[in-house]
Amino acid sequence: MSNEERTFIAIKPDGVQRGLIGDIIKRFEQKGFKLVAMKFTQASESLLKEHYIDLKDRPFYPELVNYMASGPVVAMVWEGLNAVKTGRVMLGETNPADSKPGTIRGDYCIQVGRNIIHGSDSVKSANTEINLWFKPEELCSYESCAHTWLY
Ligand code: UDP
Ligand code: MG
Repeated sequence: MSNEERTFIAIKPDGVQRGLIGDIIKRFEQKGFKLVAMKFTQASESLLKEHYIDLKDRPFYPELVNYMASGPVVAMVWEGLNAVKTGRVMLGETNPADSKPGTIRGDYCIQVGRNIIHGSDSVKSANTEINLWFKPEELCSYESCAHTWLY
């Protein structure tokens, strides 16, 4: 297990519109994960289709792509021990109705089609998503002063 595992997290258009960017970023910062990359961007339809390509045969895929394209998103890479799995725990379940209080989806949203945040579901998909959303030079290399106090 590596302290340098990376996950791709994105605040969806509803999270942006509802003013939740700061609260969501704060949770990842407070946890101790290290921010490696971040951009505020209106994603293209082609990028979003590719991002959700595994779901292309699901009935909600076209609406999902429209939802994700309906406004800007905050795309981020966070790094740390078990960042992928812990990130998913912090998000909660896909359906906010099944998400426990204390999770992001459990605390801030109601419907599966407006669940405010994305997080990679495996190290493999994290790497694919990071490469899709960021150029290698957009990933920052630096030493976090908190590192020795976290590990
Ligand atoms: N989604 C939806 N209806 C569903 C299932 C999923 O609108 O019945 C949307 C929802 O925004 C979800 C996204 O599709 O976050 C991707 O689905 P996935 O199963 O990958 O869930 P996630 O990994 O985001 O928890
Ligand atoms: Mg998923």
